[in-house]
Amino acid sequence: MLATPSAALVVQTSFLGDVILTTPLLTELARRGPVDVLVTKAAAPLLEGHAAVRDVIVFDKRGSDRGVKGIRRMAKRLGWRADGSPRGIGVAYFAQMSLRSAVVPWLAKVPVRVGWTASKPGRLFYTKRVPYAREAHHAVRCWQLAFPDGASATATMPAPSLYPGLRERAAVDALLKSPDPRPLVALSPGSVWGTKRWPHFPQLAALLAERARLVVVGGPAEASLAAAIAAAVPGGAVVDATGRLSLLASAELIRRARVLVTNDSAPLHMASAVGTPTVAIFGPTVPAFGFGPLAPASVVVEHESMPCRPCHHHGPDVCPLLHFRCMRELSAPLLESRVAALLDR
Ligand code: SF4
Repeated sequence: MLATPSAALVVQTSFLGDVILTTPLLTELARRGPVDVLVTKAAAPLLEGHAAVRDVIVFDKRGSDRGVKGIRRMAKRLGWRADGSPRGIGVAYFAQMSLRSAVVPWLAKVPVRVGWTASKPGRLFYTKRVPYAREAHHAVRCWQLAFPDGASATATMPAPSLYPGLRERAAVDALLKSPDPRPLVALSPGSVWGTKRWPHFPQLAALLAERARLVVVGGPAEASLAAAIAAAVPGGAVVDATGRLSLLASAELIRRARVLVTNDSAPLHMASAVGTPTVAIFGPTVPAFGFGPLAPASVVVEHESMPCRPCHHHGPDVCPLLHFRCMRELSAPLLESRVAALLDR
């Protein structure tokens, strides 16, 4: 096992879901010493109050830190904490493959830099390389970076984690203020990628409305999807949380749900971090990419016999074959049966 006499830096400037799946690595490293994390501006609020993290450092690589000057400035900032004391980073771990983010700790003269062998451009800047376990869950791949000398086989990965606090609990209390005896079911209909969006959420909501209290989670971009879901339920008795909660408060809302129904997107990983059983819908992507649900009792719904799956690492905006059968043919009654099985446990 690598000795870490000083602080560790984890570099994770990818998507929100990747940040959540890096939390087992953070927890592992926090057993050895202080851990700082370099993340994007968008992802920083996710790690507020995280028990394993000393400092969250924002790398605004597409904004104020862009370009060569921005990278240099960022490298300088890595040397010092906000109170002016030295940060003392002895090891940097790269839980991503971006070349730009790999350069920053190298410029900052961090002596030990650990990354995946599969990171073609970034590995030039690493002093230790860990195999990228393609067959493993992405949380495991990230966690294995903590063991560059190969000792992970005898260790147990900590679960993904997020730490919603008092402010997040109060925000969710305010959202769910009217009492309802029905179990809460969260629906997450969004995704940045068009073909990852299952099109039958409104029909599913109509089928579930009698037995479950429904809440739609997502950002402002999901408002129209939430409106379509509410319109499908008689009386519109759906709580629309889209654009109304911070990332951590959304995790808190998902924590309170008995079940989350979601596409292959960030809320799936939030549920993994807060332990909510998940019905995860996969269309153009497959769980074998390493991004399936980890919460106990979770299930995956997918069109296993479609020969064109997977057709893209993320999911294209439009089905290349134009029929979109991988998602269209996953019916609302099929999904309802999976949700019911979890509610009836
Ligand atoms: S090509 Fe196949 S997997 Fe890709 S979006 Fe179309 S139906 Fe889905």
